[in-house]
Amino acid sequence: MENLRDKYEVVIGLEVHAQLKTKSKIFAPDGTEFGKEPNTQTSPITLGMPGVLPVLNKEVVNMGILTGLALNCEIPSRCKFDRKQYFYPDLPKGYQISQYDEPICVNGYIDINGKKIGITRAHLEEDAGKLVHAGADGLAGSSYSLVDLNRAGTPLLEIVSEPDMRSSDEARAYMEELRSIVRYIGVCDGNLEEGSMRCDANISIMPKGSKEFGTRAEIKNVNSFSALQRAIEYEIDRQIEIVEDGGKVVQETRLWDDNSRETRSMRGKEDAHDYRYFPEPDLMPLEISREWVEEIRRKMPELPSAKRKRYMDLGLSEYDANVIVEQMGLALFFDEVLKLGATPKIAVNFIMGEIAAYLKEEHIEITNTKLTPENLAELIALIEKGTISNNIGKQIILDMMKDGKKASAIVEERGLSQISDEGAIKEIVQKVVDANPEQVSAYKGGKVQLLGFFVGQVMKETKGRANPKTVNELLKEILG
Ligand code: ADP
Ligand code: MG
Repeated sequence: MENLRDKYEVVIGLEVHAQLKTKSKIFAPDGTEFGKEPNTQTSPITLGMPGVLPVLNKEVVNMGILTGLALNCEIPSRCKFDRKQYFYPDLPKGYQISQYDEPICVNGYIDINGKKIGITRAHLEEDAGKLVHAGADGLAGSSYSLVDLNRAGTPLLEIVSEPDMRSSDEARAYMEELRSIVRYIGVCDGNLEEGSMRCDANISIMPKGSKEFGTRAEIKNVNSFSALQRAIEYEIDRQIEIVEDGGKVVQETRLWDDNSRETRSMRGKEDAHDYRYFPEPDLMPLEISREWVEEIRRKMPELPSAKRKRYMDLGLSEYDANVIVEQMGLALFFDEVLKLGATPKIAVNFIMGEIAAYLKEEHIEITNTKLTPENLAELIALIEKGTISNNIGKQIILDMMKDGKKASAIVEERGLSQISDEGAIKEIVQKVVDANPEQVSAYKGGKVQLLGFFVGQVMKETKGRANPKTVNELLKEILG
């Protein structure tokens, strides 16, 4: 397949649904919390009872505007809601309230390694309910499916990209950056596995150099970044094979099966006119004043790209900056530690080293440990003042995460403070020198690398507490 790949150019556009983290639904007062008893968050509005009226949740609009601004979009001064009609058991009303031709956000982009991936639009809509199918968890051996409408009416922002991506790597990078942005601005928790962020990938191929895009297939049901990449790769090969065999790719919706690692046809692609869109008569068009937009712009937190740049300006490598920003919990923690005046380099070494390793091992977030930014900052200050060595710091950080103790308390309790007193260190150095006459004569005979051996002996004697700089100086002095 590799050489055939060279003949074709791949075109990818992503449609991403982000569940907005509001307390209540987009048009109803019921809660949006995940994992509640089925059908307990279902007001008459959510159930689509006759005579009920939707009322727009202002917080949904706030989050829509904030996301649009973070994605470099224009926020038109007017948007409106439309009905998209279709029948499905998880949609009691028989239509979904969405936005068709006047969405809340238009014309944006995300910068991926210097390339702008266009964002055509982002529109608000309500989520549908969830079907639990026969034989699924809790329905083992059954021959029927059940409907849970808790999720129905949860606010979604559908973010539609331009067909600007040219590889699965690019699509993944776009998706990762988008997830990072919505998480940092606090509008979506970005959990692909739980479905709070869902991605449909549109993929087509065309002969290299062609200006005319091929027919696309839309792939649904990818619920991890690696599945997205696998699905795209599979789909590219499938389409190339069809075209090479003289066939034509048909426009359709396909499902990705991550177990069998293939896509299969789900349905022919419906066109917009199939949905009989028309303006939602129960909701007024929405006017968004420029003051409203500016008020939200002022609340914009630091975006991941700016954070990465700031960390690199502080002297972090690009790799370290990326890793920390990718793990939002670590980045927010790091920022708190910096605010307390800690030296960035030492803080990063702890965070990327012992702390990250512990979190990974325990499968937890930093907020699940007892380490506070104040305590890490204090530990770093102790190292900088020379009260303890970096090594001792590494030894006690684990206990700080587990018990929440202050570094100074642990140092006091276990007598770990660094010995910097020259007189005291000199005594020990002398003792080590006296106890190892053979090594001393070898050293004097030119085997200078034995210095490390002496340093090691002194450290052993002092349980790592002697100031290494002083030890080195004194050894050189005594050994001549
Ligand atoms: P629909 O809502 O019917 O899926 P849209 O016009 O909203 O259609 O486009 C959906 C997505 O498909 C967009 O992200 C767009 O970039 C992408 N897209 C459009 N044409 C192609 C193509 N030929 N190849 C790949 N992606 C495409
Ligand atoms: Mg679509």
